[in-house]
Amino acid sequence: MTLPFIVKPGEKISLSGVDKDCNPELIPDYTAAYRKKGETKKPLKKLNKRLLKLQELLYAESERALLIILQGMDTCGKDGTIRKVMAGINVQGCDVVNFKVPSVDEISRDFLWRAHRVVPRKGKIGIFNRSHYEDVLVVRVHDLVPESIWKKRYQQINDFERMLAENGTIILKFFLHISKDEQKERLESRINDPTKHWKITEADIRERSYWDDYMQAYETVLHRCSTDWAPWYIIPANKKWYRNLVITERIVETLENLDMKYPKPNSDVSTLYVD
Ligand code: AMP
Ligand code: MG
Repeated sequence: MTLPFIVKPGEKISLSGVDKDCNPELIPDYTAAYRKKGETKKPLKKLNKRLLKLQELLYAESERALLIILQGMDTCGKDGTIRKVMAGINVQGCDVVNFKVPSVDEISRDFLWRAHRVVPRKGKIGIFNRSHYEDVLVVRVHDLVPESIWKKRYQQINDFERMLAENGTIILKFFLHISKDEQKERLESRINDPTKHWKITEADIRERSYWDDYMQAYETVLHRCSTDWAPWYIIPANKKWYRNLVITERIVETLENLDMKYPKPNSDVSTLYVD
């Protein structure tokens, strides 16, 4: 099975050269029929249904957890991905955590503390909307801690994720890759739509001026922290429908490969009867 979009451990990535639009040829099953927006509704619905079944199995088995990490520039579609990819799954089996500017409580501890305390329990899917990677992204771009501190964090993250993996957590990390032009359009459409004003702040515009610094910081993350136990995927995210389809497919395939089994019943079901 080929794994398109996956970053090989140690691979050096130049993000400007990586596809941000859609390249159906990258996945063998992607036929010409999937190239247009409307035509992906059916395959996505099918994948969503499959995901629901797999989630139930994950929950029934309760041997492993799935942690999905979403990162990307403002407007890259983290919220939309959560909405569309998780459409139809059982909300009881899924927790979403948003990583904001750390609270005093959080900043007073090591940077992994707030991530570790919200990792999904066995049987559950946990989604990190931003994550501990902010501590080598925004923190690096804005010099929020000295370089001598953040430089050590790549290895610390790998060690942390390895520990999680060795204890039953499956980890998938998606970098939603959009172009600077696409971000401009999305920010403008937020400015022009009063129902979207709550989603935009001055900070979003300010952060945009650090685009190149962020790309550099992301390149280091992808180079240093894509591992066998917690791979990074670079998802072309200029087209929302394509992004949703690719991510859902990656998640479904990962869960399929776990070869999960329903647990044996606690009692001999053949002896049970209902009055
Ligand atoms: P949003 O995802 O739009 O709600 O914004 C959350 C903001 O919190 C973003 O600007 C992040 O860069 C910021 N943020 C998240 N984690 C950290 C962190 N560890 N240090 C500083 N800022 C952070
Ligand atoms: Mg924002």
